[in-house]
Amino acid sequence: MKKLLTLIAVASIMASCNSNTTKETTQTLDSNSIDKHTQSNADKVKVKHLHLDIAVDFDTRKIHGCATWDIDNPRAEDKLILDAYQLTVDSILVDGKRAEFSLGQPVEHIGSALQIPIAKESKKVAIHYRTGDNPRALQWLEPQQTNGKQYPFLYTQSESIYARSWIPCADGPGIRFTYTARVSVPKGLMALMSAENPQQKNDSGIYNFNMDVPVPAYLMALAVGDITFKPIDERTGVYAEPAMIDKARYEFEQVGKMVQMAEQLYGPYRWGRYDALVLPPGFPIGGMENPKLTFCTPTIIAGDRSLMNLIAHELAHNWSGNLVTNATWNDFWLNEGFTVYFERRLTEAMTDKAYGDMLWELGYQDLEKTVEDLGKDSKDTHLKLDLTGRDPDDGLTDIAYEKGAALLKLIEINVGREKMDAFLKKYFDEHAFKTITTAQFLTYLDANLIKGDKALADKININAWVYGAGIPTNCPRTQPVRFVKVDEARTAFLQGKPAKELVIAGWSTNEWLHFLRKMPKPLQTTQMQALDAAYNFTNSGNSEIADQWYVMAIAADYKPAYAAIDKFLSRVGRRKFLEPLYEEMMATDKQQMAKDIYGKYRMNYHPLAQMTLDKLVK
Ligand SMILES: [Zn+2]
Repeated sequence: MKKLLTLIAVASIMASCNSNTTKETTQTLDSNSIDKHTQSNADKVKVKHLHLDIAVDFDTRKIHGCATWDIDNPRAEDKLILDAYQLTVDSILVDGKRAEFSLGQPVEHIGSALQIPIAKESKKVAIHYRTGDNPRALQWLEPQQTNGKQYPFLYTQSESIYARSWIPCADGPGIRFTYTARVSVPKGLMALMSAENPQQKNDSGIYNFNMDVPVPAYLMALAVGDITFKPIDERTGVYAEPAMIDKARYEFEQVGKMVQMAEQLYGPYRWGRYDALVLPPGFPIGGMENPKLTFCTPTIIAGDRSLMNLIAHELAHNWSGNLVTNATWNDFWLNEGFTVYFERRLTEAMTDKAYGDMLWELGYQDLEKTVEDLGKDSKDTHLKLDLTGRDPDDGLTDIAYEKGAALLKLIEINVGREKMDAFLKKYFDEHAFKTITTAQFLTYLDANLIKGDKALADKININAWVYGAGIPTNCPRTQPVRFVKVDEARTAFLQGKPAKELVIAGWSTNEWLHFLRKMPKPLQTTQMQALDAAYNFTNSGNSEIADQWYVMAIAADYKPAYAAIDKFLSRVGRRKFLEPLYEEMMATDKQQMAKDIYGKYRMNYHPLAQMTLDKLVK
């Protein structure tokens, strides 16, 4: 998944710890390596295969149907326990016979335990069910919330523990199963899943899917809408609404080449096709690495292929995450940190070092801000997290992403790129389709790369990264050559040089972001006016640049941007963009503006974005 939020919910557990805890937590090591976010007993009863037979009903906004699990019960457990979140279970058949199941009281964040009596020889458990009123994974869009404005749209976001809100399942990253599905949708719409997908609509409205590679529940995905397909090459292509398809096809031109480059770096792509689906603008995150079919926000369609590192990120997940999976959400950095490192290496391979260096520096700036927000002593700044009793969504911060990636870069700097790449290739290969805990990774790193070299181990000092708070003192930082000119331009502007005369030839999104981020806050109104007159930031079609500019506009009370901000917030659902804007309004004297705008547009946002913003705007 690409970049979510900078965090709010963790304020409650900030402070209270100090840097002396490092030693203590090292000793207890992986006591929090058991997945506490599932109530299922899939560690005892094997759930091998799911067959999903469901109908998508836009009128009632429900998914209903039957989930049939093929199980294996070698230990003769007397029940199968699955996760369910606000599901209505109508009946359950075990090997064709009606079973007296029980659905437990909901536990905060994780939902209910669905207990089904089984025998040693039980093989098939068929659950007839309906989704609840506001499933956390689903967003139902009205036609006017789509690009085409004619048909409704539905999509899911199952990571981290939300698959259970649309499928009764064993919902832990360490539990894998294959699946098939038969999905019935209104005629005229197409259904897509994280599986082998159709490339054309059919007349029946019934679509069949097959995923023969075992995946964890968080990679279950479904999208339904007026969707069309265009190929890029023989194994890659793009899906989007008809109004978006040509822009998407242009933007994704390089994807086929990107898959080849990724394979050159870290070994074969093992998932068959690689396609991407560009969703309507309400999608709450940048992208989601659903196998065979990345889901992504239309905010990456910049018109100039400048935001393709997001696709590099989602593609990289087909090695780190989908292939080698974090065993619990406490080990999330093994998923995202590796993916950011891989994404940067891939982007560098597709461009050059000077370009890649800019991404590392912008990432470092994000990390600094996250540590500042969380508190430099917060346990939530450790790579190894303890999310017991909390929503794993709390762990989706730039700690997992940027601190995780920076640790891998530090290791690379110390061992050299050649050894690092050989190590990672071997790591992906040897752990393919398996899960791994932080402790297991550290053991593997010792055995395969550090190899008892004490001087090397001291230089990396990995415990300070994994079990320690804040940004370790040996954190690598790049000095992008391309930012030198940006810093010069900013300084010149602040010293009075007219905005129109700044030397900005050849700047990418990265340069503009760095240019704006490092401006004093707030800028004077005249300075805002001068920049806007020269570069038209208020009407920028680049969402990254627009979002940064709007934060500055709120801080400076720059009213000419307010109509554009309102429009942006009505249209875009990506939390990464929403959160800084609402945060800035709440932090300044514009709380009422935040409440008014949020009141108008809350219903446009995905339940996950609502969850985040409800805590922020109140
Ligand atoms: Zn990711």
